[in-house]
Amino acid sequence: MQVKTDFRSDTVTLPTEGMLTAMMAAKVGDDVYGEDETVTALETKLSGLFNMEAGLFCPSGTMTNQIAIKCFTQPMDEVICDQTAHVYRYEGGGIAFHSQASVRLLNGPRGILRPELIAPEINEDNIHYPNSSLVVLENTVNKGGGACYTLEQIAPIYELCKSKGLKLHLDGARIFNALTATGDLPGNYGQYFDGISVCLSKGLGAPVGSVLLGSSETIHKARKIRKAFGGGMRQAGFLAAAGIYALDHHVVRLSEDHAHAQQLAAALEEVAYVTSVMPVETNIVIFKVAAGFTAASIVHSLNEQGILCGTTGPDTVRFVTHLNITDEMIQQALTTIRELKPVKNS
Ligand SMILES: *Cc1c(COP(=O)(O)O)cnc(C)c1O
Repeated sequence: MQVKTDFRSDTVTLPTEGMLTAMMAAKVGDDVYGEDETVTALETKLSGLFNMEAGLFCPSGTMTNQIAIKCFTQPMDEVICDQTAHVYRYEGGGIAFHSQASVRLLNGPRGILRPELIAPEINEDNIHYPNSSLVVLENTVNKGGGACYTLEQIAPIYELCKSKGLKLHLDGARIFNALTATGDLPGNYGQYFDGISVCLSKGLGAPVGSVLLGSSETIHKARKIRKAFGGGMRQAGFLAAAGIYALDHHVVRLSEDHAHAQQLAAALEEVAYVTSVMPVETNIVIFKVAAGFTAASIVHSLNEQGILCGTTGPDTVRFVTHLNITDEMIQQALTTIRELKPVKNS
């Protein structure tokens, strides 16, 4: 069987030898009793890193986001986010299901919001209107081709939320990619957000897990909501150990993924079946296929040549680079991209 190079997502990463060894050696206990020292160590490590008071280890980034939204809203409230937001598009309608809140969708360039876009969408106190209580930002923006916010862009959004009494949550599924690209320090993030969700199972390469960061009060409440969501785990230290290992060993290498994404983008810019490539800031490359082709047909042609990638719309294709993509795989992929002769659909 042909071994394919998998650019579908940075979730496909497999644990490394070193990570598996660290997992096997973890000291564990019952975390629902608060007795798993490795889980506690991970929560403490990440909350310290981002300058927040506390952390909560969860099975997925969907759960950390949905718990945060539940913490920061009441039924009948409204959540403000970009129309591309993962919390809205890819979490199974969870905002309605768990929090009974409505969503106000904005249209930021590549999913990046600014105070001028948010301010007019915050409802006045009026009997007709849902109560605007939460803004959610995503950094990096998945559907925006991995576009990043800098802290300079985040600060005025925080000021607006604070002045209007709204909470601010960050879906930081790929926050370490954003930090790598912008040079911002995680320690400067805590002051701006009421909640931050960090994924360990994307580019960081852990098999499972995300951590929600917030104030001690928020995390106390979040811990109870996690229990109600069925996310209280017992000897989860084996998984948390993978997260600690990822933070210690895999953050430093994210720049390699970014360089690989740049190489792919440069090759895609040159071929006739691509009309445009979104600017590449991190580890995501999204391109638009030329007239006469469909995204599905290009993905199929690449697949036949040993390259797995995915569509993000009828005419857009996404590549994601990650720690299981080597320099050799990139060289091979560049050749395949250049030599591909896809047939037109029309
Ligand atoms: C992957 C991802 C999440 C969380 O996904 P899970 O698969 O539930 O861990 C959240 N937000 C964004 C932007 C993501 O890409």
